[in-house]
Amino acid sequence: MASLRADILIIGAGVIGLTTAIRLAERARLAKQARPYERDLRIMIYRSQGPDTTSSYAAGAIFDPYMAEHKNDDLRDKRAEATRREFENLHSEGHVWARLLEGIEASRTPLSPPKWAPQLPRYRPCSRAELPPGFRSGWRYQSPLIEMPPFLDWLEQRLRSLGVKIEKRELKDLDQGFADADIVVNCTGIGARTLVPDNEVRPIRGQLVAVPNPGIREFFVEHVRDSYIGDTTYVLPHGDTLLLGGSAELGVSDLRWNSDAEEAIMRRCRAAFPVLAHVDPIDDFRRVGIRPHRETVRLEHEDFGERHLVHNYGHGGSGVSLSWGCADEVADIVADIHKKPRLSAPTP
Ligand SMILES: Cc1cc2nc3c(=O)[nH]c(=O)nc-3n(C[C@H](O)[C@H](O)[C@H](O)COP(=O)(O)OP(=O)(O)OC[C@H]3O[C@@H](n4cnc5c(N)ncnc54)[C@H](O)[C@@H]3O)c2cc1C
Repeated sequence: MASLRADILIIGAGVIGLTTAIRLAERARLAKQARPYERDLRIMIYRSQGPDTTSSYAAGAIFDPYMAEHKNDDLRDKRAEATRREFENLHSEGHVWARLLEGIEASRTPLSPPKWAPQLPRYRPCSRAELPPGFRSGWRYQSPLIEMPPFLDWLEQRLRSLGVKIEKRELKDLDQGFADADIVVNCTGIGARTLVPDNEVRPIRGQLVAVPNPGIREFFVEHVRDSYIGDTTYVLPHGDTLLLGGSAELGVSDLRWNSDAEEAIMRRCRAAFPVLAHVDPIDDFRRVGIRPHRETVRLEHEDFGERHLVHNYGHGGSGVSLSWGCADEVADIVADIHKKPRLSAPTP
């Protein structure tokens, strides 16, 4: 029998695939330290495209786990908390792309804060005077804010240092993955719609406008009650650049820039923050991405006996905010698979 190229193949190199691969590689390294006589576990990643056309590259990315569907709130909260902790650690290690900022979430209607809000770090309700024009209620809190291009770069560097290979290769179906590894982890985001195939995954197009930062140091996010589909206003400071949002168009997967959406975003953000009246979009900094929406995030194991498929996709508008928590769960599943004698790494 031809030898497989890897022990574990991860399909997808967005934030979900990369964080998952890191957790798997870290566990493999720990196992190797405990049992140095075993051979190294070979972990590989395939991706169909470069990082800058992924949904992950386009993200804002504020910590907000409530823009993905879960059947179970406790599960969402567990994944979110693990992710928040990891971003706080990365911030305290001095990574400038992992900011911890204070800011405001506000609604255009008078509203009591949702039940989860008081648990947020440094939470307090806002007075009307603190809110931008057009907003009627809101609250302050502290949140991680991640600058995605350098974060994705860092994830890739970390993987290389852990010995994980990343290759550009588009798979037509999951069986192609099993030709290269017995454990396949599917982190294909919107790609899962055709790869699995899974019609429950639906595109939600999003567009952000970057402008030079005129001195805004806090984030602002418009709170929407039931669904984040449609136009909302947000202002996310990433050092010298501000990312202004946003749009969320269900069923649209067109990655081309939409000038009408850009104008609408500029108009809304300038109305809320008059200091933006004299700043213009940075043309070569455009961010468009397709959020992989699903009725519920799919994180589950399909056991085919000798072969194993682990799904980790469908994170909608919250993939960054759920990434590390979901990656931990995949690593737990794979650890259980390895406890089965047949698949433990062979001893020379
Ligand atoms: C404008 C915008 C703003 C956002 N803001 C936030 C935010 O503030 N906070 C937040 O938490 N989230 C936010 N999100 C959502 C977040 O970006 C997504 O949930 C997350 O990026 C999904 O990551 P992913 O790795 O699943 O998908 P992706 O990043 O799209 O990666 C998918 C990967 O799979 C690969 N792939 C797909 N199909 C195949 C195939 N057949 N063969 C091989 N490889 C394949 C692709 O090449 C790619 O590498 C935002 C998204 C957008 C678009």
